[in-house]
Amino acid sequence: MELEAYLRRAIGQQEFHLVYQPIVDSHTNQIAGLECLIRWHQPQLGYISPADFIPIAEETGLIHEIGEWVLMEACRQNMIWQNAGLPKLPVAVNLSSRQFKDSRLSRKVQSILEETGLPPQYLELEITESMSMDVKTASDALNELKKLGFKVAMDDFGTGYSSLGYLKDFPIDKMKIDQAFIKGLKQSPVNAAIVHTMIAMAHKLNLLVVAEGVETEEELQVLKEYGCQLVQGYYFSPPANAEKIGEILHKYALT
Ligand code: C2E
Ligand code: CA
Ligand code: CA
Ligand code: CA
Repeated sequence: MELEAYLRRAIGQQEFHLVYQPIVDSHTNQIAGLECLIRWHQPQLGYISPADFIPIAEETGLIHEIGEWVLMEACRQNMIWQNAGLPKLPVAVNLSSRQFKDSRLSRKVQSILEETGLPPQYLELEITESMSMDVKTASDALNELKKLGFKVAMDDFGTGYSSLGYLKDFPIDKMKIDQAFIKGLKQSPVNAAIVHTMIAMAHKLNLLVVAEGVETEEELQVLKEYGCQLVQGYYFSPPANAEKIGEILHKYALT
C-alpha cells in the first residue's frame, strides 16, 4: 500500500526513466534494435525493480498512465536519435496485459506516433502470454494494432501455460525465448534441446527469434549454431540510459 501511494506520485514527480538494451544480429554483431525498460528511482526508497512495481501498477490500474508514458517517451527518444542522424532502429516497448485489454490502446498508440512523428516500423510491441483473455478478443486487438504497421513480439516464450496456443492463434512476428532456457545452454542437454526446437519451430512459422539473457560467449556460439538470428543480454550490453545508447549509436555510425 505504501508502494502504491509512492507510485501514484511517481509520474508527476518525474521519477521514472527509460533504459535501452541493444538487440544484436548474431552473425554480423550489428545492433538490430533496442528494448526499452522502465526504471524507477524513488527518492526515499531508492531503486525499485519493475518486477516489483509493475504488478502493483497493474493491480491498481496505474499501468495505463505509466504504460502511456513509456510509449510516448520511447517514441520521442527514438525520434531524437533519428533526427540526430544516428542509425534508425526499432525500439521495442513492453505492454502489460491490462494495457492490451484496453479497447482504446490502438488509438492511443496511433496518436503517440502522430505526436512524435515516429514512423510505425520503428516501434515494436512485446506482449507476454500471461495475458489471460479469450483468443478472439486478443487476436482482434492484435490485428488492429498490426494494421497500424508495427511488429509484435511474444515475450518470455516458453514460460507460460499456452505458448503453442498463442503461436497458433495470434499474428505475431517475433518470438523471444525466455532467459531461463538460455542459462547453461552448453551444460544442460535439456535446455539445449528445447532451445534448438524452439528456433526450428520459429523458422518454420516464419518468425524471427530473439534469445534473451545471453551472458556468455559459449551461449552465443550454441545459439549461432542453432541459427538464432537475434540475441540480447549482458554479453553484449546491459540496458543503458539514452545518453549512453546515443554514444554507442554514434560510434556505430562512424564505422
Ligand atoms: P523482460 O521484458 O523479460 O525484460 C528482460 C529483463 O532481463 C530486464 O530486466 C533486463 O534488464 C534483464 N536482462 C537483460 N539481459 C540480461 C542478462 O544477460 N542476464 C540477466 N540475468 N538479465 C538480463 P528488468 O529491466 O529488471 O525488467 C524486468 C521485467 O519488468 C521485464 O522483463 C518486463 O516484464 C517488466 N518491464 C520492464 N519495463 C517495463 C515497461 O516499461 N512496461 C511493462 N509493462 N513492463 C516492463
Ligand atoms: Ca520484454
Ligand atoms: Ca523477456
Ligand atoms: Ca521477463
